[in-house]
Amino acid sequence: MDHFLYRDGILHAEDVPLPEIAASVGTPAYVYSAATLLRHYRLFDEALDWGPHLVCYAVKAASNVALLKLLGDEGAGMDVVSEGEYRRARAAGVPGDRIVFSGVGKTPGEMRHVLEGGIRQINLESEPEYRMLSEIASNMGIEVPVTVRVNPDVDAKTHEKIATGKSENKFGIPIAKARNVYAELATLPGLRVVGIDVHIGSQLTDLDPFRLAYRKVADLTETLRADGHTIDRLDLGGGLGIPYERSNLAPPVPLEYGQVVRDEVGHLGCEIEIEPGRLIAGNAGVLLASVIFVKEGEGRDFLILDAAMNDLIRPAMYGAHHDIVPLRETAAGAEMHPYDVVGPVCESGDTFTKARLLPPLAPSDVVAFRSAGAYGAVMASEYNSRPLVPEVLVRGENWSVIRPRPSYDEMIARESVPAWLDG
Ligand SMILES: *Cc1c(COP(=O)(O)O)cnc(C)c1O
Repeated sequence: MDHFLYRDGILHAEDVPLPEIAASVGTPAYVYSAATLLRHYRLFDEALDWGPHLVCYAVKAASNVALLKLLGDEGAGMDVVSEGEYRRARAAGVPGDRIVFSGVGKTPGEMRHVLEGGIRQINLESEPEYRMLSEIASNMGIEVPVTVRVNPDVDAKTHEKIATGKSENKFGIPIAKARNVYAELATLPGLRVVGIDVHIGSQLTDLDPFRLAYRKVADLTETLRADGHTIDRLDLGGGLGIPYERSNLAPPVPLEYGQVVRDEVGHLGCEIEIEPGRLIAGNAGVLLASVIFVKEGEGRDFLILDAAMNDLIRPAMYGAHHDIVPLRETAAGAEMHPYDVVGPVCESGDTFTKARLLPPLAPSDVVAFRSAGAYGAVMASEYNSRPLVPEVLVRGENWSVIRPRPSYDEMIARESVPAWLDG
């Protein structure tokens, strides 16, 4: 469910008509609904309220400081994968003891930064990494809470670029090696083992892979406890998918997911952490784009938009589907027309979709890509020297730009010509 609905024939974000934002900010532009974002966070929080837990929003899904502030003020923790994300979470007022640090390639500088600033836990992914962290933390006279990310060798049945829990993926330590790894960790200074971490992939639309992975984590918890380790925290990752196509069967909801967690690990008495990103932010954002031209082609018409793959890369990168809807509601019974919807970038990959049935559209009409809140603005670039797409946040009848579109002058002023090239 989201808060982007037609009212009197006009698509709104909560109480704000989207044409008003398009006219004021220009297009392309991302627009987020605060109510949707908070609703999804609360659904996860409630789904785990049978025991101690912390929902750590995966900052990489949509990392604008205003969004982090909304969630942080609501009590959310944060899952960060870089120093930049850690700094964003702190800038949003989230205390270090609600931030977990994940990722396969944390640098020594990043480790030092979060140790100085305060961190709830660091999820470790390899032997060289935990040896390095041990050295850094013990030199600083700190003992840092850690988990090890185990790779349970489970097929997440999702797109290959976002599956992370098979043994051939770069993530985590094979679960079969976990006992040896924990035994070594227990001997290293500067580290305090608190639990186990797992994350098997993103956009999972079936609960079975979660169930399988969590069952393996439960078995491992008992084994490691028998070996004398303290395992009182389980970080179960993110990954629950969203319905990108409204016409399709809906994927499982947070409540059902929470029940799977309870079934598989609830008896262990651990504090549960989860790291959802996409399900919290995905349907909380749309990308607005204007029609520049309608170009008649051989057997197909092209709808050429002012948004492109640099603004929303998911279709080009993952073959992802986004529903596209006009801001003016289509009249019942209107004749639909197949369009290839494309951007202006000089790559054939800059195609959002082919032969999509849409009502007839004309230049300057504005459309919304739905479900664009996660992995949208954060993956945007300035490819083709198109200034970074702006972001807008709506709450009730209020709205504000939360990241402005840079001017061309600002974009170019970041670069400089070396003196030795001049003359
Ligand atoms: C990407 C990622 C997440 C979030 O995944 P979603 O599919 O957006 O819920 C959580 N944890 C880790 C370690 C990740 O890499």
